[in-house]
Amino acid sequence: MAKTNKKTEAEQPVQPAKASGLFEYAPAPESPAAAGEIATSYGHFIGGRFVDSSGSEALKTVNPATEQVLAEFAQGTEEDVDRAVQAARKAFADWSSLPGSERAKYLFRIARIVQERSRELAVLESIDNGKPIRETRDVDLPLVAAHFFYYAGWADKLDFAGFGPNPRPLGVAAQVIPWNFPLLMLAWKVAPALATGNTVVLKPAETTPLTALRFAEICRQAGLPDGVVNIVTGDGRTGAALTAHPDVNKVAFTGSTPVGRSIAKQLAGTRKKLSLELGGKAANIVFDDAPLDQAVEGIVNGIFFNQGHVCCAGSRLLVQESVQDELLDALKRRMGTLRVGDPLDKNTDIGAINSAAQLARITELAAAGEQEGAERWAPECELPGAGYWFRPTLFTGVSQAHRIAREEIFGPVLSVLTFRTPAEAVEKANNTPYGLSAGIWTEKGSRILWMANRLRAGVVWANTFNKFDPTSPFGGYKESGYGREGGRHGLEPYLNVEALDV
Ligand code: NAD
Repeated sequence: MAKTNKKTEAEQPVQPAKASGLFEYAPAPESPAAAGEIATSYGHFIGGRFVDSSGSEALKTVNPATEQVLAEFAQGTEEDVDRAVQAARKAFADWSSLPGSERAKYLFRIARIVQERSRELAVLESIDNGKPIRETRDVDLPLVAAHFFYYAGWADKLDFAGFGPNPRPLGVAAQVIPWNFPLLMLAWKVAPALATGNTVVLKPAETTPLTALRFAEICRQAGLPDGVVNIVTGDGRTGAALTAHPDVNKVAFTGSTPVGRSIAKQLAGTRKKLSLELGGKAANIVFDDAPLDQAVEGIVNGIFFNQGHVCCAGSRLLVQESVQDELLDALKRRMGTLRVGDPLDKNTDIGAINSAAQLARITELAAAGEQEGAERWAPECELPGAGYWFRPTLFTGVSQAHRIAREEIFGPVLSVLTFRTPAEAVEKANNTPYGLSAGIWTEKGSRILWMANRLRAGVVWANTFNKFDPTSPFGGYKESGYGREGGRHGLEPYLNVEALDV
């Protein structure tokens, strides 16, 4: 595009919402007391009861919005992991021989209890993770319940799911999850595992163990037989002990690509079935015929939802050159209205960064963006004093070689690149080692299909972004992992579908 001396609107400073007087909100805080009682310290949940660790090391989980310690929890030892796997093994015989319709009753019961206790769980999740209550209340918790309802429905229909005449559970499933959607990632893993007749040992992330521990109480409330779900807390050492345990039959991991790679190496040559849900660097592609206001909402949702701590976040905006200025003006105006702050305030759009370590990583990558020559922009906004915060940020003038265009930032940072033709958009979108998701914004259905056929991404959204549904499979290509969670496809990683047992 020809350069003129006239400053485009995109180059003018954008006033924050407060200064413009557009949206003045009174505080609308949710009560932290709604989270229920948080114990000062937690052990593991093994064989249907909370037990002490065999070791003495304890970790702390903090509220990332205040840096206050919420609770201590056990650093699981190899012995703890072994006890949990043994409990799951013991429970497997009875659980797997229950008729599917009986297993379904437990799952339906769990789903209903999650619904009944959803306010408590939403507040607890916000406190432990830092994500806004509006999201835990309206996205995480409804989806958690929906996953249990959905897989409850499959439990007695496995013979008709299209996996051959004799689908069988695998045995004990070792499940390791990250901190960005703690309870939702648990639901994605536990619901299909139980529906298919497996028993589970799950390890939550070390910065967000509280909702998994509360879920243990829900299992008890639902009368789930002892040992069907076991929860062992701790950091990566506990995770490694669990995935390496010789008596687990299935490993399901969601987390970073480097750890996924190490687990794949660890399991090579064993008979354990493995599924990996790893990182991403999705392209959100906007064509010049897209409804731009709608696209702006999709871009904001794509990268600022959950502070950008989203594996499938639309972290690379690919915008057609002819609408770049118009789109960026609108996007900056919209970013200026985002409210960053107290996760428990119902008006908050962007909450706290989950941990000091994650904040340091985001800060480092954003600094690298500037050093490599991209132009940084963020709206003015006041950040709270304590806690971990990062303003919604965008970079223009980004080249494909820049680190901020290649590496997963996992924070509220958007890298903007441009393209001229659909072929160039595909080329740039696919130019990443990841392949988890992509978004397309255009009025033309034929263009959506043309693009979707060429994008190497497990999920492609059209004229929307970050839409999740338990009936829809989710998973990656390339370094984003393998295996699918959700939908009918999400049953298969937990089933032995061989005709014969060999
Ligand atoms: P992480 O890989 O550091 O940790 C994930 C989990 O693995 C944690 O519970 C951790 O304790 C455990 N762990 C660490 N080292 C381990 C080891 N050697 N063996 C076994 N377990 C180990 O990732 P994170 O920082 O917690 O999460 C962020 C990452 O997760 C991002 O890369 C994100 O893209 C990815 N993610 C992917 C999906 C998906 O569905 N593809 C969903 C959410 C998050």
